[in-house]
Amino acid sequence: MKEVIMYQCGFCKKKYSYKGSAIRHEKECFHNPIHKACASCGNFYQEEKTIERDNEYPLSIKVPACSAGKEIGKVVYDDLGLPHSIASMKHGCKGWIPISEDEE
Ligand SMILES: [Zn+2]
Repeated sequence: MKEVIMYQCGFCKKKYSYKGSAIRHEKECFHNPIHKACASCGNFYQEEKTIERDNEYPLSIKVPACSAGKEIGKVVYDDLGLPHSIASMKHGCKGWIPISEDEE
């Protein structure tokens, strides 16, 4: 048996067998704060939305949202009329703030 060493992204926990791949990934990782992306932003949260439907029970879905008011998530309906959330995550955002550690 052989022990293998893996390299893990310090931002999103993805694992790589090669250090070079891990380094390359870390630079591009959207969880890396240098990109000021939604994935690493303190303004990002999942908003619970209740979708009312005709003659059906309301559905509760999670929609990506931003406390700074950027539009990143919206609700779309599929062929069966069921709601889904889609997100257009941003990066290089002026409204980006770090995720605060001491807030619950
Ligand atoms: Zn990563």
